[in-house]
Amino acid sequence: MAEAKSGSLSLDMFTFDESWEEKKKRAEKIVEILMETYPREKLLIGDPYRTLIHCIISQRMRDEVTYKVWRELFRKYGDIERIAGTPVEEMQEFLRKNGVGLWKTKGEWIVKASRIILEEYGGKVPDDIKELMELPGIGRKCANIVLAYGFGRQAIPVDTHVNRISKRLGLAPPRVQPEKVEEYLAELIPYEKWIYVNHAMVDHGKRICNPIRPKCSECPLRELCPYARGLVTDADIKGNSKK
Ligand code: SF4
Repeated sequence: MAEAKSGSLSLDMFTFDESWEEKKKRAEKIVEILMETYPREKLLIGDPYRTLIHCIISQRMRDEVTYKVWRELFRKYGDIERIAGTPVEEMQEFLRKNGVGLWKTKGEWIVKASRIILEEYGGKVPDDIKELMELPGIGRKCANIVLAYGFGRQAIPVDTHVNRISKRLGLAPPRVQPEKVEEYLAELIPYEKWIYVNHAMVDHGKRICNPIRPKCSECPLRELCPYARGLVTDADIKGNSKK
């Protein structure tokens, strides 16, 4: 019988007959395989402000469109001073014309977040998760993205791919919120590997572990995956995330 983890994390509903220590070993192996499968020479965008603006634009947008708009925005406005000095309506119009969904909200967030960074932080994006999350349009996922890809810190942004794949792999219980998934991953995965988790799972989610009909037969993780053994299903994962 697998022992439960103490504290706010427990093994309820996703033990798969393994103890916490066994789950940790399996998690570490999974990350190693993912790192080998999806190596990336350069993880860092290296510019926290641009990373932050990219994350605001990207919400509910396809990557290709996000990248195009983001590049065009910086080509047109250049830097934080000009963006902060742009009227909200003008930014909204720019986003609308470039096909950005939620253009009204995002236009306001981009200008207002830039003004706060300029006025309260001297133009430098804060590197504290709580301060980041106080900026307009920045939730926990974006804050972690800024820390990981902007500052190069160890952080685990949980987006839709990380959320789904972690649950299929039994690294988090099937019906918990992304914030809780982050807590489980942070406990299970060695600190120095946190920064690889997001990019590797995003690549894996696009190529193999797709939202619908994952290609388990060609997956390098299939021997380590409860989903491939029928122990977790998409029906378990879907629906409300109440815990
Ligand atoms: S075995 Fe299937 S469900 Fe598990 S990680 Fe691979 S593709 Fe995803």
